[in-house]
Amino acid sequence: MARIAVIGAGMGAMATAARLAVAGHQVTVYERSAGHGGSLGRHEREGFAFDTGPGLLHLPAVYRDLFVKTGKRPLEDCAELVQLDPALRHVLADGTELTLPGASRGGAAAVLDQTFGAGAGERWNGVLGRARDAWNATRRPLLEEPLRPDWQVLGRDPYPALRRSGLLRRRPPTLAEVAARELGGGLGELLTARVQAYGIDPATAPASAAVLPYMEQTFGSWYVRGGMRALATAVYERCLERKVAFVFGAPVREVLEREGRAAGLLLADGTEAAADFVVCGVDPRPLRVPLPSGGVPADGRQVASRYTLLLALRGARPADAVHRTLVHSPDTLLTVLRPDDPATRPDADHEAVTLSAVCGAAGTDEAPDPEALLALAARAVPGLRERLLWWEARTPADVEAATGALGGAVPPPALAGAGGRLLRPANTTALPGLFLAGGWAHPGGGLAHAGMTGALVAGLIVEGAGFKGSQ
Ligand SMILES: Cc1cc2nc3c(=O)[nH]c(=O)nc-3n(C[C@H](O)[C@H](O)[C@H](O)COP(=O)(O)OP(=O)(O)OC[C@H]3O[C@@H](n4cnc5c(N)ncnc54)[C@H](O)[C@@H]3O)c2cc1C
Repeated sequence: MARIAVIGAGMGAMATAARLAVAGHQVTVYERSAGHGGSLGRHEREGFAFDTGPGLLHLPAVYRDLFVKTGKRPLEDCAELVQLDPALRHVLADGTELTLPGASRGGAAAVLDQTFGAGAGERWNGVLGRARDAWNATRRPLLEEPLRPDWQVLGRDPYPALRRSGLLRRRPPTLAEVAARELGGGLGELLTARVQAYGIDPATAPASAAVLPYMEQTFGSWYVRGGMRALATAVYERCLERKVAFVFGAPVREVLEREGRAAGLLLADGTEAAADFVVCGVDPRPLRVPLPSGGVPADGRQVASRYTLLLALRGARPADAVHRTLVHSPDTLLTVLRPDDPATRPDADHEAVTLSAVCGAAGTDEAPDPEALLALAARAVPGLRERLLWWEARTPADVEAATGALGGAVPPPALAGAGGRLLRPANTTALPGLFLAGGWAHPGGGLAHAGMTGALVAGLIVEGAGFKGSQ
């Protein structure tokens, strides 16, 4: 039995902690704030309640697997997951509106034909079919295995781009180029928006970013009844059941090193916590941990943040309101979330709505103008102005306060292609005994991907360097 110190009580760190405890290790999580969950915050005021972090889960299988591997009660007994249907609504800049059904290729194609003309659905499914090929080609090395030492091979774009006769391919196309060439117009905008919502710029992203809309359409988008924080609480309670210890109000200042290996933590109050292994589940840059030698850099400078507005509205949520709407405009993509969940409002005569926009990390960009976001939101929520009781903003600085990530950066899922620029550092580091989990490590951020780091790091610690990946 080894003593394992985990830094941070975010989802990646807690997923790792639960798996390590099941393997018989003595695990202690050191969290600087007063509670668990990291990004999965909840703000309550006057009977309204809002998720301040992610509003949806993709790939629930990641957490189903965590619950199966760490105890008797499955995820569904510990948190109520609801699949969105319809999956989402788009309101395009030219006013076109369309609502796509949940996890249905045929249903989506029919709506696209109706909106953009016959053949649009086939073109869309053609792109997502190529995205499926990219997903299948990279799923294991990108998501289920530790980052391979020759990670450069993942820098090649697996998206099987259409070749045009007579044209020499100078370089693989970007996602924006695929959207323009293979879809065009409003249909192309649907593809770029779905990638942009992850904080990834379609103009520079590899075409393989199309795996993100593929993943959503194939595996669905899921809400957790009672708010997304309920998922964090379920994972936290699973950790407690497995006897993981939590020390809250315990900021970690440094990883201790003795005789060339990780030996524990130095806390901000000067106390030391000895350990045989250390798992860093936070942005590693402020802690100056030695990153994997020769691996991809943990360069967070280009990682975007989020600006969120929490809206309290008078009046009932209309029965036909859609849970997620993307409002497109030339300079902002706005996500509007309207959960049909009594736990989010004081009574049936009120509604809680969350708006979020991708923005630069704190200190790198002008913050979005809340009035402009409210004007955009009114395109998705009729009568918004008249119904508005109050709103509150959550800025990149608030995200930094919640997660400790520099500038409030929110790392997106890792992607193959683009020369490896969108990969994240390996879970193993240059310091033996020190491992990286959570959104800042392979295979990147987002609820599902950060959850996957748990299986990888636990595998590497339990099975050692010979660990070949999760099942
Ligand atoms: C506003 C916002 C919107 C998002 N939207 C989406 C979305 O739509 N879809 C999606 O899939 N994902 C989204 N994400 C990302 C997703 O929430 C995270 O990737 C996921 O929760 C995993 O987080 P993590 O494990 O990296 O830990 P984090 O959530 O980053 O938590 C890190 C924890 O470590 C603690 N900590 C930091 N430094 C120290 C230290 N030195 N000592 C001790 N403790 C420390 C922090 O207090 C925090 O509790 C969003 C995140 C934010 C903030």
